[in-house]
Amino acid sequence: MTNADYHFLKGGDEMGELIRSIDWSKTPIGPVDQWPQSLRLATSIMLSTPFPMYIAWGKEYIQLYNDGYRPILGSTKHPQAMGISTRETFAEIWHIIASMFDGVMEGTAVGFPNFMLPLDRNGYVEECFFDFSYSPIYNDDETVGGVLVTVIETTENLKNIQKLKESNVALKRSEENLRNLISHAPVAMAVFRGPDYVIEIVNQKVLELWGKTYEQVINKPVFEGLPEVIGQGIDVLLSNVFSTGERFIANELPVNLFRNGELQLVYLNFVYEALKDSDDKIYGIAAVAVEVTEQVNARQNVEEAEERARLAIEAAKIGTFDYNFLDDTVVTSPRFDEIMGIDNTSDHSQYLAAIHPQDLMVRDKAFEKAYNTGQLFYKARVEKGNETRWVQAEGKVYYDDENKPSRLLGTLLDITEQKSDEMRKNDFIGMVSHELKTPLTSLTAIIQLANAKLKISDDSFLSGAMEKANTQVKKMTAMINGFLNISRLESSKIQIDRQEINLEHLLEETISEIELTVSSHEIHFEPCNPIMVSADNDKISSVISNLISNAVKYSPKGKVIEVKCLVVDNNAQVSVRDEGMGIDEADIDKLFERYYRVESDHTRNISGFGIGLYLSAEIIQRHDGKIWAESEIGKGSTFYFSLPLTRD
Ligand code: ADP
Repeated sequence: MTNADYHFLKGGDEMGELIRSIDWSKTPIGPVDQWPQSLRLATSIMLSTPFPMYIAWGKEYIQLYNDGYRPILGSTKHPQAMGISTRETFAEIWHIIASMFDGVMEGTAVGFPNFMLPLDRNGYVEECFFDFSYSPIYNDDETVGGVLVTVIETTENLKNIQKLKESNVALKRSEENLRNLISHAPVAMAVFRGPDYVIEIVNQKVLELWGKTYEQVINKPVFEGLPEVIGQGIDVLLSNVFSTGERFIANELPVNLFRNGELQLVYLNFVYEALKDSDDKIYGIAAVAVEVTEQVNARQNVEEAEERARLAIEAAKIGTFDYNFLDDTVVTSPRFDEIMGIDNTSDHSQYLAAIHPQDLMVRDKAFEKAYNTGQLFYKARVEKGNETRWVQAEGKVYYDDENKPSRLLGTLLDITEQKSDEMRKNDFIGMVSHELKTPLTSLTAIIQLANAKLKISDDSFLSGAMEKANTQVKKMTAMINGFLNISRLESSKIQIDRQEINLEHLLEETISEIELTVSSHEIHFEPCNPIMVSADNDKISSVISNLISNAVKYSPKGKVIEVKCLVVDNNAQVSVRDEGMGIDEADIDKLFERYYRVESDHTRNISGFGIGLYLSAEIIQRHDGKIWAESEIGKGSTFYFSLPLTRD
C-alpha cells in the first residue's frame, strides 16, 4: 500500500502531495500504517482545511503542515521543514515556544493574539505577529501525542494599523502646522470646512479684512459669519471649488464688506484652494487673500485723470506729440497731424519740412533751449498746402537715468486765428499811433514854445503847469513811439542803421539826458575804456534809457542805480543795477514778452504797457546780441545786454 492509498492522506493540494511523497518510516513518526488514530484524524482535518494548520508530533515535534500554513515558512524554511523537528526549523525562536509546546504535551492549551516572534524565514530576522493557539492532540490512551497549531499571521494587519496610526499623527501634525502657518501668515488666511463652509481657522489678518472679531465668525458657516457677502456671487465660487477641486484665483474682485460700521467696497486678490483628505476627497477650502483696494483706487484715479486730460485736450483741439531724442522719432496724435497737415508718420523730418523756412531757426533755438532747460516753447508758421498757419508748441523734457534728455512730451496749438487778431490789433495800434503823431508833434512844439515864454512870466502857476504839460507830452510821445515801433517791428519795417559807435560815449550821453528829468535817484556810471561796437546809435540808446527808466520806476526814491560797461568773452556787456522791488524767478523769462507786466500790489500803481523790454529785446536780438536779467525779490534787479565787439 502506498501513502496515496490512505484515505487520511488524501487531498491537501501541494502539501498533501509533499506529505504523501515522504517515506515516513525514516522519520521519528514511523511508517504510515503504524500511525495512531489521533494523528491520522488530525492530519486528515489539516489537509482538508484552507486555514493555516500545523501539527508538531511526538516528543521531537515532527512537523506536518498544510497549504494555508506554507507562507509562514517564508522562502528559506520550506520544503525541508516537512517531516523534521520544530526545534530545528524554528531554532531562532525555540527558546520562546519550547515551554509552551512542553506545556501542551502536558495538556495545557495556549493561545495569544498578535504574538510577536522574530522569525528568520527570508534570509533576515523580521518581527512577525500571529494570532495562534497550541492545542493538545490526545491519543486513545489519554496521553498527548502532539501539538495542533492553528495560526493566522497578523503582521500585515498590524503594519497597516501602525501606518494608520502614524498617518493619523502626521495628519494631526500637518493640521497643527497648517494652523500655525495660517496664524502667523502675513496675509489674510482662512479655512472653511464642509459644504456649509464652516469657518474653522482664521488669522488676525483675515479678521481685519472682514472687519470681524474671532468670536463673531469662528465655527460659523461663512454666510452666517459674513452675511453681507450673500448675493455677491461668492457662493458660486466656493461651491465650484468644493465640487470640482479646481483652484479659483480672483484678481481685484470687488466685494462689499461691513467694516467699521459701514458697508465698504473693497478690492481683493485671493485664491480658493480645495483641501483634500488622504482619500482625495474634498473636505474644505483654504482661502488666502490680499486687499488691493488702495492700489485699485489709485489706478482708477490715474485713469480718470488721464481720461479727463484726454477729454480736455480733445475739446481744446490740442495736438500732442512724444518726441524721442535718442532715435529722432516722434509719435503724434491725429489732431497734431491735422494741424501740421501731414499724414501720420514717425519720421520726424517730415514734420520739420512743414515748418516755414523762416521760422526753422526759431524752432531749432527753442529745441536747443529745451535741451538745456527742460522747457519747450515757440511759435512758428507751418505751410499746409497753399495755406500758412501759425502754431504754438509747448513741451517738457524727460531725462533718462544718466540725466540725458530722452523724451519731449508736448502739445501743439493752431493759433492762426489768434495771430491774425493780433495782427489786426497791431495794424490798428500802428495806424492810430501814426495818426496821433502829427497832432502830438504840433502840440509838443506849441507847449515848448509856450513853456519858453512862460519861464519869464510872473504867473508861477502857469509856468509850473506848462512845465508839467511838457513832461506829460514827452511821456505821451515816448509811448506813441513805442507803439509805433512795435507795429514797425512786427511788420519787419524796423531798420537797424549800423555804425561804429563807442559804447562808453553812448552811455554817458544817454545818462546825462536822463539826469535832466530824473532827480529822484542817483545814477552811478563807472567810467570804462572806449568799447567799439557796430550798432544803431539811437536804438541802443533807447534800450539803455529804457533799462534805466525801469530801474527808476521800480525802485524807491533815493536809491542808487549803477550802470557798468565791460568786455566779457569778446562781447561788450552793459549792466543796469537797481535796489528796487526785484522780480520773481517765475516772471524773469517772460519780462521780454510783449505786453508782459508783473502783476503785484507793488506794480499795480506804476503805469506801463509792458512793451519797453519787448522792444529792447527785439533791438538787441537784431544786433545779434543778448539781453537778460538777474533779480532777487526785495533786494533789486540787474538787467544786462551784450553786443558783439567790432573786430579789427
Ligand atoms: P512797463 O515797465 O511799461 O510795464 P517793460 O517792458 O519795461 O514795461 O517791463 C515789463 C515789466 O517788467 C514791468 O511791468 C515790471 O513788472 C518788470 N520790470 C522791468 N524792469 C524792472 C525792474 N528794474 N525792477 C522790477 N521790475 C521790473
